[in-house]
Amino acid sequence: MSSRLRIWASLLFVLGLAAIARGDAMERMKPERLRATHERIEALKNQRRAVALTSGYDDVRTLFHVHSAFSHDSRGTIDEIVAAAKEAGVRVVMFNEHPAPHYDFVTDGHRGLKDGVLLMPGAESGGFLAYPRTSIKDQKTDSPQAFADLVRSTGGQIFLCHLEERMDWDIAGLTGSEIYNTHADFKSEPKFLAAMRSPLTLLMLMGAVKQYPQEVFGALLDYPADYLARYDQLTQKTRLTGVSANDAHHNQAYKATVLEDGKVQLEDGLGEKVALLDPEKIGPLKLLTNGRKAGDVILDLDLDPYVRSFRHVSTHLLMPTVDEENVWQAIDAGRAYVAFDWLADPTGFVYQAQAGDKTWPIGSELKAEEGLRLRAEAPLEGRFKLIRDGEVVADERGASLDFAVDKPGVYRVEVWLEIAGEDRPWILTNPIYVRGA
Ligand SMILES: [Zn+2]
Repeated sequence: MSSRLRIWASLLFVLGLAAIARGDAMERMKPERLRATHERIEALKNQRRAVALTSGYDDVRTLFHVHSAFSHDSRGTIDEIVAAAKEAGVRVVMFNEHPAPHYDFVTDGHRGLKDGVLLMPGAESGGFLAYPRTSIKDQKTDSPQAFADLVRSTGGQIFLCHLEERMDWDIAGLTGSEIYNTHADFKSEPKFLAAMRSPLTLLMLMGAVKQYPQEVFGALLDYPADYLARYDQLTQKTRLTGVSANDAHHNQAYKATVLEDGKVQLEDGLGEKVALLDPEKIGPLKLLTNGRKAGDVILDLDLDPYVRSFRHVSTHLLMPTVDEENVWQAIDAGRAYVAFDWLADPTGFVYQAQAGDKTWPIGSELKAEEGLRLRAEAPLEGRFKLIRDGEVVADERGASLDFAVDKPGVYRVEVWLEIAGEDRPWILTNPIYVRGA
């Protein structure tokens, strides 16, 4: 941190902190919590161990719900997105653009292998993540069910998205559902959002983001209890592949520039002017503009560059080789788990059913049989929870879990890590569906 920034951080800390309500995210953004979080994450890197169980598949970090400049609320270029994917160890990017008349998201959308990253086009439309196989441009539908049917009629896949806005939807024939959405998580922090409207908070954040960018982003992470409760209800009735939604736009940025008349122009990540501030009326701002001339940038805060969003969470698809067809197949089979990769790399994690010398991977549907066990193992020790039909039936610490199945049900696993004095969710698997004989 520069000395100027340090002075500002400490001054603004005193001035501003009293005014900031203490939501969880704000609490986690305190300097000592950020440092402890960072140190724990670094320590975990050295604690990784080999996983004895094997799935037999390649573990492929995949992103759902990514926006680029095709969407009205993003300026992201494909080069920027592919570079970020590579940096974050992501091999498949599923786009979900906001449709608009000037382009066809299927035929014009990003598709194919670019610099080692497989790109697949899709839309965020009508409450769904939609991946039709062929163009559906200009085809009108009059209900969510009709839209889902249209996408399915092309051989494509369709997921519920932004579940928080449609907890009561009951649509037939879906591929899956989001079980975590970064933007929804962000929206669930009203105290943080309110604090963000203060230039003082933005300035404080600038110092924290410079030092601990991923930890500040991750401070927003909360266990998606509402999403998972609904998902558990829905999977009682039908198979649904659970995926994470990065909802990445790269549009949460702020830049403050000194104008000719001494006032300060605040712009957001899309270059929209969001506020005109008068240093004569805001004491701390006056100190910051002292000695600055027109054109000087006094605040430059980028909260959601793609790489940070991509590192935060992903869906790990288990597949034999990486190509479009295998992505569709892994999704259909539910061979997927969601991970908050920023905490630790979960690659190699296994969850499977086992009886005698037979094994079934995540997402499998099988009949209950004598000696059937559910086993999970992670490359780190953590807290393993086994959830059957929405109820926790096992909760233990260690690097693995071994459960004798005593009755049919929809079984999924969660693994939590203890980070800076708090259990944080790390892995959320798709279910294994054990049916009655
Ligand atoms: Zn979106």
